[in-house]
Amino acid sequence: MSSPAPRANAAPVTRYHADREQLAEVLAGQPRYRLDQVWAGLYQRFETPDELSNVPKALRADLTAALPEALQLVTEQISDRGDTVKFLWELHGGSRIETVLMLYPDRATVCVSTQAGCAMGCGFCATGQAGFTRQLTTGEIVEQVIRAARRARELERRVSNVVFMGMGEPLANDAAVWATVERLHGDVGMSARHLTISTVGLVPGIRRLAERPLPVNLAVSLHAANDRLRDELVPINKRYPLAELTEACADYLRAKNRRLSFEWALIDGVNDRPSDARELAAISRRLPLPAHVNIIPLNPTPGWPTRGTPRAGVEEFRSRLEDLGVNVTVRRNRGTDIDAACGQLAAGQPVVLSTLRARPDTD
Ligand code: SF4
Repeated sequence: MSSPAPRANAAPVTRYHADREQLAEVLAGQPRYRLDQVWAGLYQRFETPDELSNVPKALRADLTAALPEALQLVTEQISDRGDTVKFLWELHGGSRIETVLMLYPDRATVCVSTQAGCAMGCGFCATGQAGFTRQLTTGEIVEQVIRAARRARELERRVSNVVFMGMGEPLANDAAVWATVERLHGDVGMSARHLTISTVGLVPGIRRLAERPLPVNLAVSLHAANDRLRDELVPINKRYPLAELTEACADYLRAKNRRLSFEWALIDGVNDRPSDARELAAISRRLPLPAHVNIIPLNPTPGWPTRGTPRAGVEEFRSRLEDLGVNVTVRRNRGTDIDAACGQLAAGQPVVLSTLRARPDTD
């Protein structure tokens, strides 16, 4: 038995990159029912080939050799409360990415990376500052989910949700991200409403997503609701300013009738002012369905000139938004003790706000 040949210009065939046709090549000469057996073992029971108890032992060894894993575990860290597990993986070629498993009372969510590094250059993000290395393959993204699901099972939990919100900009790698969505939906059996794709605001990507058949949730990392501040925090805003982004979000909602959330990393004195709340509420009101705002207090970053809003300011911002009729949740800053914010572990440095300075409210 040999590994299936990659298709022209295609990524190497790893365990969760192989589609059914490629797995059939690996299983050539076996009875036809083997394909379904192996596929169900991989995607429904999250078994490794050597755990496939309904498959002959020699075949298990052959499958292990023909379908290598794409991710090598470097470290796994678990938060003090035991409800956040962070994996640092090494990819073929040496790049490192991370995956976070978050255990809530009512659900278990995996946050996956979609690129090694990121080209978007957001000023507050360690991943962005480290630059872009390469796109992840479908197999590398799917494997993050399956291996986190295996870990969740050891903790007697079942992964219910996947968010494409780790390192990288998912809509800058949308072919691999969409193939992952299809695999998770069609083979793992996850509902589209439990899958969320985030974007920093790539308008053409949002428009392509609106044409895809499955109505996944869209999360937009907004962080600022006027172009002047957003240009600084999220440089892609210069190419796709807020008016265009809001229109693309509105069209997505009309096409999918799905939940849209705005992510808002709250930065002390930068985007937590009364005027920020008002501008954010105004953008929400322009959408055909109300957006849900997730406030993310930034991880503490000792030694840097700007910092996350202190707790009292977070509560004030939240109640301001609520008074303006906006649905809002303050996300607990999961994994502060294990640096679980995007990009921090792989980049080996804290989130940096070096280019930002507190500014007065425009009131
Ligand atoms: S915040 Fe997201 S989009 Fe921006 S640089 Fe970091 S990983 Fe890329």
